[in-house]
Amino acid sequence: MKLLQNLHTHTTYCDGEHTPEEMIRFAMEKGFDSLGFSGHSYMFYSPYKLVSLEGTERYKVEVTALKEKYKGRFPVYLGLEVDMYSGVDLSGYDYLIGALHYLKLGNEYVAFDRPAETVQAVIDTRFSGNGLAFAKEYYAQLATLPQYGKFDILGHLDLLTKNIEQIPFFDIQSKAYLDVAREALQALQGKIPFFEVNTGAMARGYRTSPYPSLELLRECKRLGFGAIISSDCHDGRYLDVGFELSRDLLLEAGFTERYILTDHGFQAVAL
Ligand SMILES: [Zn+2]
Ligand SMILES: [Zn+2]
Repeated sequence: MKLLQNLHTHTTYCDGEHTPEEMIRFAMEKGFDSLGFSGHSYMFYSPYKLVSLEGTERYKVEVTALKEKYKGRFPVYLGLEVDMYSGVDLSGYDYLIGALHYLKLGNEYVAFDRPAETVQAVIDTRFSGNGLAFAKEYYAQLATLPQYGKFDILGHLDLLTKNIEQIPFFDIQSKAYLDVAREALQALQGKIPFFEVNTGAMARGYRTSPYPSLELLRECKRLGFGAIISSDCHDGRYLDVGFELSRDLLLEAGFTERYILTDHGFQAVAL
């Protein structure tokens, strides 16, 4: 693949295995042309305390220094993967990925980017065992994403299907499911320009295909979203996992190009 780039990259500043500079080295070894970092935003409701606000500042300083260090040799971009309810300062980044990892139910923030059994327990206790009701709630909240910031990229738009190969919480081919997903995408149309084909769950063994499903890829195409291929990388060894498959799926869905970030903004490149 020409102009190889990954804009969804985690490091030891959040839940990644490698430091930013180690990730740059992996990227160069694998023939990438540039790399964007997207540390998780601080989530005051996360029980894991992945990042602190102070840690976010150190992350910004280090990636900014690496941009300088590699200038002219290897473009580096500073991004943030913003969980919708984070409420953090979104200024000073080259790009922002917007995503939903927690559902807000009443005053509680309920995680669903978790192992299949945990998600099943959420569906059982919060949605009376009704997987489709869970999906409806997820997409209803996702549809409000633009209220929380000016995001460039819609992150793993059907993250709620992470474990669908282990436990079919709902039928991802059914009209009922697709209708609620499409409704959310229609609400986001024109407000977030790009979405990602995200292979992260493949590298970690949860899934055999990237997010989103082929049906939703087709809907993204119909609605005019630009496509970005990313590996949601937490381990530099898997920086390019599933890129070729993602390309094939985009072609199958009718896309002819994908987008990369450059020093002059996002630009289309042929698939
Ligand atoms: Zn994520
Ligand atoms: Zn991520």
